Amino acid sequence: MRLVRCEPCTPPMPHTEGHRDEQASSEDRAPLLVLFNKETAAQLNPLPKDVIHIYPPWQSLSVEGSDCDIILNTHFSQKVSSSSKSSVASLPSPSAQKRMPYSLEKVFGLLEVCATTEDHSSKQDVQHAIGHFSLPGHCQSLLDAIEALGQAGCVGHSVEVVVQRVYSIPAPDFCSGSILKHRIKTSAVAPTAENTRTRLCVLVQDSYGMFSVVQLHLLASTDDLQKYCQMWQGKTCLLRAIKVVQRITRERHTWLFGLIHSLWPPLVPLKHLGCTPSLQTMQSEKVAGPPPSFCYLLCGQESSVEPIEDQPTSPLYFAPTVQTLKELMQSEVKSFPCSFVATVLHHKKQMGNIGQGEVWLAITDPSLQEERLEGPLRRTAAVCVNTSCALTSSVLESLHSPATHRISFRDVVKEHGIFLCTEQSVISLCPTEPSAQSSLGMLPKPVRLDALDSGVTPSSLCTVSGVIVGVDENTAYSWPACNHCGSDRLEMLPQQIFHCVSCKSFLDKPETRIQLEVILSQASLMDCTIKIKLQKKTVLSLLNTASLEGGEFSGYDVESVLGKELGPLNAYVRLITRKPSLWIGLEEISL
Ligand SMILES: [Zn+2]
Repeated sequence: MRLVRCEPCTPPMPHTEGHRDEQASSEDRAPLLVLFNKETAAQLNPLPKDVIHIYPPWQSLSVEGSDCDIILNTHFSQKVSSSSKSSVASLPSPSAQKRMPYSLEKVFGLLEVCATTEDHSSKQDVQHAIGHFSLPGHCQSLLDAIEALGQAGCVGHSVEVVVQRVYSIPAPDFCSGSILKHRIKTSAVAPTAENTRTRLCVLVQDSYGMFSVVQLHLLASTDDLQKYCQMWQGKTCLLRAIKVVQRITRERHTWLFGLIHSLWPPLVPLKHLGCTPSLQTMQSEKVAGPPPSFCYLLCGQESSVEPIEDQPTSPLYFAPTVQTLKELMQSEVKSFPCSFVATVLHHKKQMGNIGQGEVWLAITDPSLQEERLEGPLRRTAAVCVNTSCALTSSVLESLHSPATHRISFRDVVKEHGIFLCTEQSVISLCPTEPSAQSSLGMLPKPVRLDALDSGVTPSSLCTVSGVIVGVDENTAYSWPACNHCGSDRLEMLPQQIFHCVSCKSFLDKPETRIQLEVILSQASLMDCTIKIKLQKKTVLSLLNTASLEGGEFSGYDVESVLGKELGPLNAYVRLITRKPSLWIGLEEISL
């Protein structure tokens, strides 16, 4: 923690008439001790002569016997001006002049009024402070609008903002609007993909640089998201009838702030409250300060966001930059949000059906399919779709369909070499396949995969070939399954007819499913155990038979496959353990 000794400041007021009391000389003002926690101190780097604005809420502590008040929990602090000329923090710096009603001195005045109700001059100051915000019409600063109403309640003014991002989050049955609560599974019955509801969210920024997340109404269909993206994203809108849910800080919302940081510094100079045009010009030449370390979570309704008619895209709008997977995989930055278009080659649900647990996708794009790929680049990359990311029904459908689709990923976090889809990420189907005349978006057929080597990564795809050196007999079995839904819950009825308990259909001849896992030895990976779960067609070819009569393995000597050569097979990398020795678990797939 950092303790700083401050002097509460009545900021200079170059543009206000001097009817207010002449400022008290600095000797009259009691010094103030302000405690910043580690993160806030690192963000502010407070130095002597800096002016720092401390936004509510904070707490004050009076210590008996000390004439110094102490201010604690100052998580919402910004440097207004810096003593060092090289780094002028400009954001979000509602300037000291305009902030006057909230200077610490005034707030202490307010506290004293509550305590004594005697001090009339302080009371007047407070009234003056409140009057400052009761202007009709709309304001341009989120902080002004939010601070004008205090801790909670409805923001009465409409605020002019730019919608930087539109996304949706899975919505639980209750609609409290808390972004924390939907991570908790409340019901024992997990929602199915079809009835998962999603809530529309927008990330907005005002012309002073401040951000807020606004949670809006539930979407009737998950696919409605695109409509709102087209209507709102990049546009200047009026926000109205919104409520403050909570303040959120970088420490607990790293993904959100990762996105905010990627929109920083702003593309156009930001406004500074209380500056004359000439000052504005001077300020705009200054370097933008660090990105905000806090923002507000607001909630509203569909009507809370109203685009200003006939406005082109706002110059403040920071559109997502679409990059190739090659560019992204080559980047050395540890964790950053990014956007790209890729083809999903394979998907794997981690638990339950898609739409419930995490979904892992193996993806590629033309940049990773170039004939020659240099360096440590792999031909496929892994995407983890976190449960906080809302999948639209059209994307879910495309994952279940056998055809491959180009899918756009927006504001996905690249972390530890994989792409993580989080709350703010938007996954959508690309509307059209690449046109025939442009080969740019085309993948080679068949798609190129890496041959299995020791650098393989989990949830990627590879090709493998080798000699079978072992059979996992515990996993060698076959069973009858429903031809329609794949369920193994079949009932035998008279006349050799089966009834599927799951989908209630009647079957003459159920499909036979086979499971067989073998241990492969690959010449290039001698010290490694490679275990692969084979597909039915491969098992049948190994057993030299066209079908398994009666759905039984009996009569087939599983041991007879030892020494047979397999591959090259396409495989999904399920699991890798590197200690005590390299062990790779694969699953054969069809592309
Ligand atoms: Zn069935």
